[in-house]
Amino acid sequence: MKLSAEQARTFRTWLTSRGGVLLDCPICRRRDWLAPEIVSVVRSDHASSDTHSTYDEIIVTCALCGYTHHFNMEVINKGKKP
Ligand SMILES: [Zn+2]
Repeated sequence: MKLSAEQARTFRTWLTSRGGVLLDCPICRRRDWLAPEIVSVVRSDHASSDTHSTYDEIIVTCALCGYTHHFNMEVINKGKKP
């Protein structure tokens, strides 16, 4: 799902606070990033069990070649300033 305006603002602040900026795509060398989205990922060691272990990521995908950045939300939430 797309990030809410508040989540997008929090993510941008978090990324900037770590010196990160989305520059050119490392694959196609262009700069055309889609809006960030939140996805749930199933850990493979739990994929076949009844109790899935999942975690959420923020992904940012290149609109031209599909290359995707992945940011683990557990790490982002741990690193939030109080
Ligand atoms: Zn690309």
